[in-house]
Amino acid sequence: MSCPLCTEDGGALVWRGARLRVIRANEAGFPAFYRVVWNAHVAEFSDLSPAERAHCMDAVAVVEQTLREHLAPAKINLAALGNMVPHLHWHVIARFGWDSHFPAPVWAAALRERDSAQEDALCARLPALDAQVRQALAQWAA
Ligand SMILES: [Zn+2]
Repeated sequence: MSCPLCTEDGGALVWRGARLRVIRANEAGFPAFYRVVWNAHVAEFSDLSPAERAHCMDAVAVVEQTLREHLAPAKINLAALGNMVPHLHWHVIARFGWDSHFPAPVWAAALRERDSAQEDALCARLPALDAQVRQALAQWAA
């Protein structure tokens, strides 16, 4: 019955606010994979008040914009599924034409081999990217 997003951050913690946090997930093949996690345990987006929903989506937009500015990905994918962990979280995923699944969803079957050189190059940028996401969120919440 224990919820992993109630007991743990759910990934590498990038930023934590009073109502939500941003983590970077460790998903093989998709280095620039972030999640906006609502801190309180709610299952569905409509469990939030209108003001909370706006707050949540503003945070998603800040993360998306930061990934766009610093990575120039082919596409940003936003998703809220929660079938495996029914604790509200939004996936914010930078996608690239070279990734193993593009243009299919990251949860679909792979379309090609992983490109370790491209992945390594992106991984090398993650510490700076995390710092940029953290800075953007701090300015947003200030
Ligand atoms: Zn939970």
